[in-house]
Amino acid sequence: MLEMLRLSDKFKFLCHKNIECFNRCCYDLNLFLTPYDIIRLKNRLKLTSTEFLKKYTTWHVGFKTGLPVVVLKMRDDLTCPFVADKGCLVYKDRPSSCRLYPLARIKLRDEEYYYIVREEHCKGFDEDKEWTVEDWLEDQEVNEYNRMNDLFMELISSKHKSGKRLNDEEIQLVYMACFDVDQFRGFVKENELLNKLDVEIDIQDDVELMRFGINWLRFKIFGDAKI
Ligand code: SF4
Ligand code: SF4
Repeated sequence: MLEMLRLSDKFKFLCHKNIECFNRCCYDLNLFLTPYDIIRLKNRLKLTSTEFLKKYTTWHVGFKTGLPVVVLKMRDDLTCPFVADKGCLVYKDRPSSCRLYPLARIKLRDEEYYYIVREEHCKGFDEDKEWTVEDWLEDQEVNEYNRMNDLFMELISSKHKSGKRLNDEEIQLVYMACFDVDQFRGFVKENELLNKLDVEIDIQDDVELMRFGINWLRFKIFGDAKI
């Protein structure tokens, strides 16, 4: 049974370079990437989203959501492609789930809960540093990621409400507009979407374009948002 934590609840944990399990958690992961994770990583690596997705990810249609799920590809030795002896090479732009660990988040309507993910190899729980959930989120700079990831959660929620099963073309649209923001930019220009929908955004801004893309999908496919 999971123990649900609220923002003011406390837990003990510390991760640091001298701990015996250093880097052990960056191995053999099933690491899902959110649209915002991809924007941060591809900009950090100075790649387009299309290049990033091709080089570092695979994707499939989620069994539960019926929507595209993007997963970080591990190296042949099953280590994360961004781990090195000195630690995470993309630390400042590491994905949401790496930031949150050892917590995981559940968002139910306007309520959010956290729970502790205890991995046997992780010695961080034996350290004597106490955090509130709120302090941890701030320390790991998770809040901005949560806000951005909630936009994607809204798309999932629209899909659930509609009960609609997407066809292949719709799945490809969702993949592009959510995860491949640079390709979506070309699509928006080519189809003059902003003019047609009378929307004003800075199309060069990845985050604004991601927001527009998710909202547009909710509007176009599920009829569940206004443009
Ligand atoms: S296993 Fe836990 S304590 Fe060890 S490096 Fe990873 S997060 Fe830190
Ligand atoms: S992105 Fe960084 S923190 Fe996350 S698994 Fe890879 S190396 Fe570890």
